[in-house]
Amino acid sequence: MSFYLPTRVLFGKDAVLSSRELLQSMGESYLVITGKSSRKNGSLDDLLDALEGKRVEVFDGTPENPSVEFVESFAKEYLGEGSFDVVVGLGGGSPMDAAKAIAVLLENPELTGLDLYDTTKYGKAKPVVCVPTTAGTGSEVTQYSVLTLNNWKKGFSHECVFPKVALVDYKYTLSMDEELTLSTALDALSHAVEGYISLRSTPFAEVLALEAVRLIKEYLPKVLDDPENEYYRERISFASTLAGMVIAQTGTTVGHALGYSLTVEKGVKHGLATGVFLPFELDVAREVMGEKVDAILRIFGGSLRSFYRDLGVRMQITITDEEIERWSKMVLGASHLKSTPGTYSEEGLKIAYEEVRSEYVY
Ligand code: ZN
Repeated sequence: MSFYLPTRVLFGKDAVLSSRELLQSMGESYLVITGKSSRKNGSLDDLLDALEGKRVEVFDGTPENPSVEFVESFAKEYLGEGSFDVVVGLGGGSPMDAAKAIAVLLENPELTGLDLYDTTKYGKAKPVVCVPTTAGTGSEVTQYSVLTLNNWKKGFSHECVFPKVALVDYKYTLSMDEELTLSTALDALSHAVEGYISLRSTPFAEVLALEAVRLIKEYLPKVLDDPENEYYRERISFASTLAGMVIAQTGTTVGHALGYSLTVEKGVKHGLATGVFLPFELDVAREVMGEKVDAILRIFGGSLRSFYRDLGVRMQITITDEEIERWSKMVLGASHLKSTPGTYSEEGLKIAYEEVRSEYVY
C-alpha cells in the first residue's frame, strides 16, 4: 500500500501571515487567481501582506465552475504579462482548480485548453500555492483540477499540479453563509465517504476518511447553529483537508459523477449536488461491502438520510424525466464508475436521480 502527498500543509489561524518567509522564498512574481469574496473575508489582505515587496498580479474575476475555454483564454492573455514564478489559487474550488490549469498553460504555452486532458503532452507546471477560503473542496491537497466542458464537469489529474504549499486558515470560513457552509461541508463528506468505499481505497486513506466523517457528523450541525464559533470552523476545515488527502489517493466515485449535471445545468452548488447521492451510493455499495458501509453508517447512528433530514438538506430545482434519461447516459460513460463498488446500469443510475428527486427536490 502507498501514500503520496507532495504538498507542504500549514494549517491553523494566521497560516498565511506566518508563512511569509516560505512564500517569499518561492519567487519574485506571483499571479493570484481568486474571486470577489477574498476581498471580504480577509484572505487577500493577508496574502498581499505576506507577499509584500514582490510583484503580485491579482485576478479576482474567476467564475464559478470555470470552463476549459476560460482557463485557455485567461492563460493566453496573461502570457503577455511577463512571466510568473508562482500561481496562487485563493478561494473555493473554482479559483484553486483554475489556478492549477493556468499553472500548466503558463508553463507550456503551446498547449490548448483541451490538451490539459492529455497528460502525456506536459510534465511541468508553474509552482502552485493554494489557500482555501471555504471548507470542503480539499483541492489544496490534490493533483486534480475539475473544469466545465460541454455542459459537464471533467477533471484532469497530474502530479505537477499538486500544490507545493497549502495554507489553510479557518478564519476565512467564518464569513461563509449557511448555504455555502452546508454545501462545502457536504463536499468534504462526499470526498471522505466516496474515498472510503472506493475500489482504490487504501488503509491510509481509510483512517483519514473515517476521521473526516466523524468530524463532519459532530461539528457540521454545531457550526450551522453557531457560525461564528472558531473551534467548530477549525474542525470542519480540518475535516475538509483530511478528506482532500483521501481523494488524492482514491479519486472520487459515482456520487460526484451524478452530481455534475445538477451543478452545470441547474446551478446547484457542487457539494450539495454530490452529497445528496451518498445515501443511494451507500445502498448499492452495501451489496458488495456491507461491513465498510456499516462502519460509515454507524457514525450517523445508522442512517445518513436522517442526518440529512435534521440538517434540512434540499434543493429548490425541478428535474424532468427527460433530464434524468439524458444525465444517466452521461454518467454511464464516466470514469468514476470504474472505482465505484457495486454494479451500475443505466436503469440503476436513473433510479438514483429519481430517488434524489423525490427525497431532496422541492
Ligand atoms: Zn467534490
